[in-house]
Amino acid sequence: MIKMSKKLLKNLHVINPCAEPAFVENAFVAISGDTIESTGITLPSGEFDEIHDLGGKVALPGMINAHHHLYSSLAIGMPLPKKNLNNFVEKLKEVWWKMDLALDHDSTKACFEAGLLDSLKAGTTTIIDHHCSPSFIEGSLSLLADMGEKMGLNVSLAFEISDRNGEEKFEASLKENLEALEKYSRPLYVHPIVGLHASFTLSDDSLKKIHDAVSSIDSWGIHIHVSEDMADELDATHRGYGSVLERLNRFDLLNQNSLIIHGLHIKETDVNLIGEHNAMFVHNPSSNANNRVGMAPNLNLDELSSGLGTDGMQANMLREGKEGMLIRSSHLQGGGASSDYMQLLFRNNPKIASKLFGRKIGSILPGYQADLAIYDYSPRTPITDSTVFGHVFFGLSELPTEVITRGEFRIKDRHLIMHSEKEIKSNAVAQAEKLWSHF
Ligand SMILES: [Zn+2]
Repeated sequence: MIKMSKKLLKNLHVINPCAEPAFVENAFVAISGDTIESTGITLPSGEFDEIHDLGGKVALPGMINAHHHLYSSLAIGMPLPKKNLNNFVEKLKEVWWKMDLALDHDSTKACFEAGLLDSLKAGTTTIIDHHCSPSFIEGSLSLLADMGEKMGLNVSLAFEISDRNGEEKFEASLKENLEALEKYSRPLYVHPIVGLHASFTLSDDSLKKIHDAVSSIDSWGIHIHVSEDMADELDATHRGYGSVLERLNRFDLLNQNSLIIHGLHIKETDVNLIGEHNAMFVHNPSSNANNRVGMAPNLNLDELSSGLGTDGMQANMLREGKEGMLIRSSHLQGGGASSDYMQLLFRNNPKIASKLFGRKIGSILPGYQADLAIYDYSPRTPITDSTVFGHVFFGLSELPTEVITRGEFRIKDRHLIMHSEKEIKSNAVAQAEKLWSHF
């Protein structure tokens, strides 16, 4: 039997935003291998391979991005189209579908590396990714799994299947998902799921083909954009269905392992459909605001225990939570009820990740995977169970100084320690120049 390495983290203040207690002062965290063994105030006895004194820093659970597009990591500062784009579909056609088509093996790898680095540095330790590189399909998901392993993050893999680039690429994308499903049916830190771009870029024939291909597999789910813009719902109506979700249900594509992303314009019957199938729902506020597609209703977020994702907009989940809260507030009159972004990020996302990866993820509690984001934070007002919200969303504005995943330090003094951050960054710059030359 392999002996598990034992680490003791001491002299740190632990915040588990949605647990009771939410705050433990002067705590310790004992880690065995990749799992938290115990936490509390009185230091445990026993031998440790390493003891780390955190000098009064504040620890949050490593965070989960419930919907991300790592392939867009090199899009920051990308040349924008010359003409004004009038709507969401034009934006997809003129910006995103041109960019994803230009990705080759090397630029895709640079996107993965840069995006994983940004995530880790922001304390995001689990990524549920939705990948698209139609000119580099075969092997793209294994490449992401390898990069996730190298950097030490949990990664959920999916390749966006779509009809928009022709039959050959449709078939290759379906195959890439199926191969990942087979190859990664056991590993602890990789979770494969079947990626579909969206209902409006898939014909009835294609949905049937996808269903027929997955239905004989033991465990599968889909990860799909649903009703992000009204155009998706109108398309489903034109094809003779009551809604996008009714269409997916007609092809037996909804189940408890499935991720429904956005859902801005869904009806009450669609909410019920998601609930009946016990599927997971994910809200992406900064992306929705940026695309001007509307805002997911409070009620849907509450009823569906919505998770929180960034849709490729950013790697920092604390920022996404804060921005989501502020965007919603800007649409409310005084006294109007909002949604609880703390719950989305620290209760619902951990539930989603734990369900997908089949182990406890997202809290600093015994039995959970040892993923922590540690901040050098000197609060000017007391942190207590009832003031955690303000400290988390308004106080912790700097990046964490240390990030631990699977019980190992990955970031120290805000820098990657096991690999060269400088190399990843300079490669990203070179690949971005090449990528942008296509526009
Ligand atoms: Zn997305």
